[in-house]
Amino acid sequence: MTETAETAETAETAAEFTAEDAAALVGRLRAAFRTGRTKPLDWRVRQLTRLRDLLTENREAIADAVHADLHKPHAETYAAEVDFTVREIDHTLEHLAQWLSPQPLAAGALAGLPEGSTAGTRYEPLGTVLVIAPWNYPVQLLLAPLAGALAAGNAVLLKPSEVTPATSAAMAALVPRYLDTDAVAVVEGGVPETTALLAQRYDHIFYTGNGAVGRIVMRAAAEHLTPVTLELGGKSPVFVDRHVSVEAVATRLAGAKFRNAGQTCVAPDYVLTDPETAPALARALGEAVEELFGADPQSSPAYGRIVNQRHFDRVAALLGSGTTAFGGRTDRDDLYIEPTVLTGVRPDEPVMAEEIFGPVLPILTVSGLDEAIGFINDRDKPLALYGFTEDDTTRRRLADETSSGGLGFGLPMAHLRVSELPFGGVGESGLGSYHGPYSIATFSHRKARLDVPLG
Ligand code: NAD
Repeated sequence: MTETAETAETAETAAEFTAEDAAALVGRLRAAFRTGRTKPLDWRVRQLTRLRDLLTENREAIADAVHADLHKPHAETYAAEVDFTVREIDHTLEHLAQWLSPQPLAAGALAGLPEGSTAGTRYEPLGTVLVIAPWNYPVQLLLAPLAGALAAGNAVLLKPSEVTPATSAAMAALVPRYLDTDAVAVVEGGVPETTALLAQRYDHIFYTGNGAVGRIVMRAAAEHLTPVTLELGGKSPVFVDRHVSVEAVATRLAGAKFRNAGQTCVAPDYVLTDPETAPALARALGEAVEELFGADPQSSPAYGRIVNQRHFDRVAALLGSGTTAFGGRTDRDDLYIEPTVLTGVRPDEPVMAEEIFGPVLPILTVSGLDEAIGFINDRDKPLALYGFTEDDTTRRRLADETSSGGLGFGLPMAHLRVSELPFGGVGESGLGSYHGPYSIATFSHRKARLDVPLG
């Protein structure tokens, strides 16, 4: 079975994908890698260029598919899925040769070895990589890891999320049209297919999604001592200092929180601020939401929907926490949850129990920075921590006294757009990182080499 035939199948027939099918497919990718075809720089550049073509030539079809799955506005798909990934590819193309160049050690590091000895490191590809993607940014989170794995010279097997079936089908149709089908394949499907895939041996598994499945992935990988990258989520806090302009904060906070109806792994999850700032901030957030989506976000083409009824019910159940400062309306048939801000929320309420992953923003009050830092450190290490403050000491203390995958002051979620920054979590929010040069490090082995002259 070729990946083209396989990916042309419907979800029903794809459910018959067995461990034997998975073994045959992985075997074929492995054999392609063994030929050495993926190693030359030319091949990598060609694949990255074709991946770029895939994105730019099919912008509209991709945006249509994402809209069918998530009601995501086209402009948002262009920015956060297509252009984001194209930028990542362009940056990689520009620097790849330099990133891959061997790194010699300074002569001083070789003291004690015979005269004329040289040493250094160089990246070599790992082999065959499995990329398992989630539904919330179903293009970016499938193709940005793919770009990194190809740039590092690997064969790649892609598993898009079944939760966004139109995008999954689009990816399965497009990838074989653009990329080297001997070395890149797509398998669609859900738990049975992923389970069959996870039974195989890979040289790296790159998983993005929730921590429960992250544990399943890591257990399966352990069978083969396969290294993993786990891009997970969690509750990303926002600290708002009492001396900032709440209007400026609200515009940026609402823009980050309510994009994609809050279904972003690095979305601000909850706010910590002092009791005086909380009501003013809630009011300013209400104004910012109206600015973004009008008086009725349900009729705004710029506002998204919850991905399915299971997630709708989960998020809607969180609306009972605290006091609704604004929002709170829902429409299950339309999978609509209004942008909502909750005030007076206590730490033991349901909305604080798990990652919200929806358009609900609780504001909790703390007496000051000490309590905020304590609150953050009492919980799992988040994927991102955001601060709004003009104070250098506050910035330094948040940086020094907390741990998170990323730390952003002034503009939530912007750090992941910077290709030269590693993107990843720590502790419960993930393991490993990628983007730019960090993707090369993730999808390569850094080999040590020492040359000692015989004479
Ligand atoms: P999801 O339901 O699409 O699952 C992710 C992938 O895991 C899918 O491909 C799915 O088929 C597979 N999967 C699901 N159950 C499985 C099982 N039992 N065995 C094997 N594979 C299985 O997406 P999700 O997990 O709901 O995604 C949301 C979560 O992902 C949130 O926690 C979010 O914070 C996190 N996330 C993290 C990042 C990041 O970059 N760190 C990005 C996006 C989302």
